[in-house]
Amino acid sequence: MKERGNNIFTIYDEVIQQGEKEELLKQKAVSIWMTGLSGSGKTTIAKIVERKLHEQGHLTQLLDGDNVRHGLNKNLTFTEEDRTENIRRIAEVNKLFNACGIVTINCFVSPTVAIREMARDIIGAKSFNEVFINTPLHICEERDVKGLYKKARKGEIKNFTGIDSPFEGSTNPEMTIYTENKTAEESAEELLNFISTKIKYD
Ligand code: ADP
Repeated sequence: MKERGNNIFTIYDEVIQQGEKEELLKQKAVSIWMTGLSGSGKTTIAKIVERKLHEQGHLTQLLDGDNVRHGLNKNLTFTEEDRTENIRRIAEVNKLFNACGIVTINCFVSPTVAIREMARDIIGAKSFNEVFINTPLHICEERDVKGLYKKARKGEIKNFTGIDSPFEGSTNPEMTIYTENKTAEESAEELLNFISTKIKYD
């Protein structure tokens, strides 16, 4: 007889395992964790890559800061404590998608090494791939896709990453993409090549 306290483990031992789902989908489930300043290009690149993977017959899920904060994490703010909780929940969601055999692509500023290491720990180093979208602040600010930098400079938004809240670049990412002198399509191509090697099922 199994002990009551072990029930959770028992359930996960008995359900269909990740490997069987990966076999069904003919892909390895990984998490692509894109980090970088607001406007660096995370979402733009991820959307192109997700579409191409889909066309190649892969099952994917894109998670983006804005949509997660409107749903699952709508009770969270941008204090350090809430930023950590935001990423913790997202990482747990990644783990569930991966268990389902799904390739997860994340677009979150995730500004500190500590926060990204927490995500790596939760998801598991084997599945976790940190991709640093390395775009200089002045370029992100010039792009100012959502007008947020202008507001942050005027003090209308507080704790904005890169302005009055720090961003720690990746020190040891699985991949770095420099977007400054490239088109979004070229950046996406680089990421697609990287992901293709990671999800290959053989
Ligand atoms: P983030 O998700 O990192 O906040 P977005 O993807 O919303 O950034 O915005 C990035 C902006 O930069 C888009 O308007 C995009 O068209 C532009 N851009 C210019 N060059 C590139 C590139 N090489 N890669 C990605 N985006 C680029």
